[in-house]
Amino acid sequence: MNICKDTVVTITYVVRDLEGKLLEESDEAVSYLHGGYDNIFPLVEQALEGKAVGDTVDLKLQPADAFGEFDEELVRLEPRESFPPEIEIGMQFVGSPLDGSEEMLYTVTDISEEKVVVDGNHPYAGQAVHFQCAVAEVRPATADEVSHRHAHGAHGHHHH
Ligand SMILES: [Zn+2]
Repeated sequence: MNICKDTVVTITYVVRDLEGKLLEESDEAVSYLHGGYDNIFPLVEQALEGKAVGDTVDLKLQPADAFGEFDEELVRLEPRESFPPEIEIGMQFVGSPLDGSEEMLYTVTDISEEKVVVDGNHPYAGQAVHFQCAVAEVRPATADEVSHRHAHGAHGHHHH
């Protein structure tokens, strides 16, 4: 069948920067619910519309269409004593932004005696990317999946 609204699509993908450096690769196939549920980059979803098993998509995406623009305000300087002693650059943790909005993932990017720099931007924010994927499976979504707005099953992100 072809990809259309309310199908569960399984893909394998590779994301590179525009110089060809590998940024991210699916270790195993991943599934998402197709049809505007915000489960995947919108331009990728658009390109996959109508495709079938074995088809591929090859797209160059601007930062805003991929992992987001780099936002200076998401970089925060925190007192060293707010962190455990074993903290290292590259560690990630969940925190609340200053404005009290939804919790987000922060990455430690610098550590000094007194201060720790944490960055709430996605590690690839601000980068244009080359996104390539291949369709491995297409099936109709179940009513549960549509009402939950995400794919279930072996390759879905959500397990109940
Ligand atoms: Zn669910």
